[in-house]
Amino acid sequence: MASYLPERSPLLGSRAPPRDSDVGQSEEEWKAHRVRRIVVGGVLTFAFILAVVISLLFVNQEGWPWEDEDPLTRARAMLNKAPVIDGHIDLPILTRFRYANNVSAFDLHGRMPGHVDIPRLREGKVGGFFWSVFVECKNDGRYFTQPSYRVRDTLEQIDVAHLMIDKYSDTFALTLTTDDIKSAMREHKIASMLGVEGAHQLGNSLGVLRQFYSLGARYMTLTHGCHNAFADSGGILTAPAPLHNGLSTLGRALIYEMNRLGMLVDLSHVSDDVMRQALALSQAPVIWSHSSARAVHNVSRNVPDDILVLLNDSASDSAHWRGKGNKTDGVVMVNFAPMFVADEGKATLETVADHIEHIGKVAGRDHVGLGSDFDGIGDVPEGLEDVSKYPQLVAELIKRGWTRQEVAGLSGGNLLRVFKGAEKVSEHMKRQGATPAMDLYSRRPDLPAEMPDWAGVSRLDL
Ligand SMILES: [Zn+2]
Repeated sequence: MASYLPERSPLLGSRAPPRDSDVGQSEEEWKAHRVRRIVVGGVLTFAFILAVVISLLFVNQEGWPWEDEDPLTRARAMLNKAPVIDGHIDLPILTRFRYANNVSAFDLHGRMPGHVDIPRLREGKVGGFFWSVFVECKNDGRYFTQPSYRVRDTLEQIDVAHLMIDKYSDTFALTLTTDDIKSAMREHKIASMLGVEGAHQLGNSLGVLRQFYSLGARYMTLTHGCHNAFADSGGILTAPAPLHNGLSTLGRALIYEMNRLGMLVDLSHVSDDVMRQALALSQAPVIWSHSSARAVHNVSRNVPDDILVLLNDSASDSAHWRGKGNKTDGVVMVNFAPMFVADEGKATLETVADHIEHIGKVAGRDHVGLGSDFDGIGDVPEGLEDVSKYPQLVAELIKRGWTRQEVAGLSGGNLLRVFKGAEKVSEHMKRQGATPAMDLYSRRPDLPAEMPDWAGVSRLDL
């Protein structure tokens, strides 16, 4: 074969036949040159293959071998890319109880008396949270018609949240959609959503629900610790006797209206029957904004396995199951309150991780999230003292084998998927011409139950 046939090496390319500039090289020089090229090419190719093999042998699931193996360092790095979105933080009720709603009386840049302030939110890698706008559910009478100040007090809670988000606009951004949340996090702001914690805060009125939505509320818990006109509560430690055996007729209309608006149905605090009925009825994905696992700690406030399994992707035979995303998807955001986590004095970061693991096992790891209840709980688990500690919790899960992708789902991705599903259902219902629910609470004394005789006459005649 002619000596000037091109040689091919992946790294060195082709050796072209001698050109004019090569004229004058002796045959020996040319051969020696070729040998050198072959040797160098071989060595480089070998080194390349060796490097690939070493990488494949030693690279771990989460990164490169030269990355820090310390779980906490890795947790922080993961949360930098997928920050925490907490389902339930009670800063507004702390503001009400401690400062009489005066947001000028404290500085969120300094050390707050509770579990939440800006430096600790930043340390905890928080990218967003639902500000709970909560008021208590007592003394509304047997049929919830005794006049109360629930609606006023809820408006004050919403006002307090808005004032704080506005006052610290360098840190917080009011976010109304999943797109808003993502863009706030891209700007390194803390996405701020509002969640109403109980339909008792509606004054029995779907009109009030629509107004809360227009003020920014993006989830509503169907009950708090008491039954209301819409649904039965699951109580705190043990379930009370039911009133409606689940949802009332008005409660069913409420779910339709929340689906139509794009407000997430929150099943924390409700009875098991309400959970089952709402899962079957809701066209949109649902959340538990702050609930743990009953199989790990047996209190009625936690979610039982027979409901968790309804969320599992593999439980496709369930009548309730309609797939993921825009169907009956859901996320259970784990509550840190010691009384829901473990026996007295035994709640720790590790036992909270046990709840996360259990929900991940029964419902699937893409159906679990974080809903701390910080500032709404007196005690805290050992190791999870405030909002700065989420990286430590994630580090514990990394030690237990959670992957980068699973952590990203837990920290906020699962909530975003479910929220997006609710937005899509709302858009679909509106496109299909779904009209606002006009249902009234039948026991309301101030509105006519039926249209009166004068309904057809003009206003002037009245
Ligand atoms: Zn709660």
